[in-house]
Amino acid sequence: MTDLNQTLFDRAAQVIPGGVNSPVRAFRAVGGTPRFVQRAQGAYFWDANGQKYIDYIGSWGPMILGHGHPAVLEAVQKAALDGFSFGAPTEREIELAEEILKHVPSMEMVRLVSSGTEAGMSALRLARGATGRQKFIKFEGCYHGHADALLVKAGSGLATFGNPTSAGVPAEVVRDTLVLEYNNIQALEEAFALHGKELACVMIEPIAGNMNFVRASVPFMKRCRELCTAHGALLVFDEVMSGFRVALGSAQSVYAGLIPGFKPDMTVLGKVIGGGMPLAAFGGPREIMRQLAPTGPVYQAGTLSGNPVATACGLATLREIAKPGFWDALSARTQSLVTGLKGAAASAGVPFSADCQGGMFGFFLLPELPQNYAKVMTSDSPKFNKLFHGLLDGGVYIAPALYEAGFVSAAHTEDDIAETVGVAAQVFKTL
Ligand SMILES: *Cc1c(COP(=O)(O)O)cnc(C)c1O
Repeated sequence: MTDLNQTLFDRAAQVIPGGVNSPVRAFRAVGGTPRFVQRAQGAYFWDANGQKYIDYIGSWGPMILGHGHPAVLEAVQKAALDGFSFGAPTEREIELAEEILKHVPSMEMVRLVSSGTEAGMSALRLARGATGRQKFIKFEGCYHGHADALLVKAGSGLATFGNPTSAGVPAEVVRDTLVLEYNNIQALEEAFALHGKELACVMIEPIAGNMNFVRASVPFMKRCRELCTAHGALLVFDEVMSGFRVALGSAQSVYAGLIPGFKPDMTVLGKVIGGGMPLAAFGGPREIMRQLAPTGPVYQAGTLSGNPVATACGLATLREIAKPGFWDALSARTQSLVTGLKGAAASAGVPFSADCQGGMFGFFLLPELPQNYAKVMTSDSPKFNKLFHGLLDGGVYIAPALYEAGFVSAAHTEDDIAETVGVAAQVFKTL
């Protein structure tokens, strides 16, 4: 039988670089042929061959209700009939902004944009504009989109300025980006001691999903907050992935539960708030947000920002996940997947660790959960690739790279979880 995924991949490679519009989709890390999705419903999607998969990517997070949720579909269809885009304000933008602020009270105002990259880039510009400072801290293994100043890897030694991770990024553009080790309090203190008065912000994924699943430790997060406050730098939470995914109040509500009075200064959102449509946002206190154009000197704009169809999709999604019982059910389902996988790995004698929060999970082929990027990268990658392809052959689709998180949706049933764990148990025996 011809593999129609391969046929499409060959054809795509003629007209789209690497055959994909975002690199990780190309399966470079794990090898093999990417699955071209034909359609999706609930917790499943079907590829070009008509093969069905249980989907643990969910568009890399947005599809928290599963695919084709009836209330979301209805909202999108209705909005589309009223027009695709106006380039003029609409009431639904206010409704979405109000809904976001209601659940994430550290923000008093929010600006809507179209991608997480745009949101992260704009938040950084605003942090620099509002503080009048240029330097900022980010952490190795955190991803904040592909804006130039944020595409930086650690240089050698502690508290050094970073090197571009991409060709085409001038060294001058990343000159003010400090890249530190995640969860390393000493490095953070040294950086503030050296550069505290010049730092505009610390940008962090509070639960880092771009190195699989690594939580900022409570002492580390506490120190981030204290040092930012002491030096007049802004603490910027990049919750593009964790926002409305790990809890209704996002990761910051998790830390507020562990550190009394805790809140970030600014928040970057994306993924879930668009429900699968191109929509993202950044927000913070009024006095900071008023620095944005047209009320302030920090320029930021977008032709499709606050798009009427995207805001309808996001709003319908947020209203569903705010319903009573939603988070208990989703968390229990995710927990049952993690517990099942741990048990299956233990039975097969495979070193394995896993963690989850709300509808987001991560696992490592390591005996203990790693605390930083270097540790994450010690996870056994040939073994991961074998596990990935074993799961894929068994109809279970997880992220095609060991440094990516996984996502459970409200549409995943206990049967889906049991089937997944069953497939995993077979594959673990072969590792
Ligand atoms: C996905 C992601 C981004 C980038 O969002 P895009 O919509 O892909 O541009 C930024 N930050 C984090 C934490 C992300 O997970």
